[in-house]
Amino acid sequence: MSPRCSAKGCRVDASWSLIWNNPQLHVPAREKQWVACDDHREHLSTFLELRGFLRRVDPLPAERP
Ligand SMILES: [Zn+2]
Repeated sequence: MSPRCSAKGCRVDASWSLIWNNPQLHVPAREKQWVACDDHREHLSTFLELRGFLRRVDPLPAERP
């Protein structure tokens, strides 16, 4: 089963992984993850980027058969 998109109210399967860290809350080694569908990838990554939290966006591994 794929993870659900982290966007509020979205029920679509996620296909992107957004890796972020809030330096005020988290030690540098800590990596938080949000997952996003195609529609919300930009919205969520922009949200994190504006706050300086975004580290990278990775495609989620394809589902195993
Ligand atoms: Zn979504």
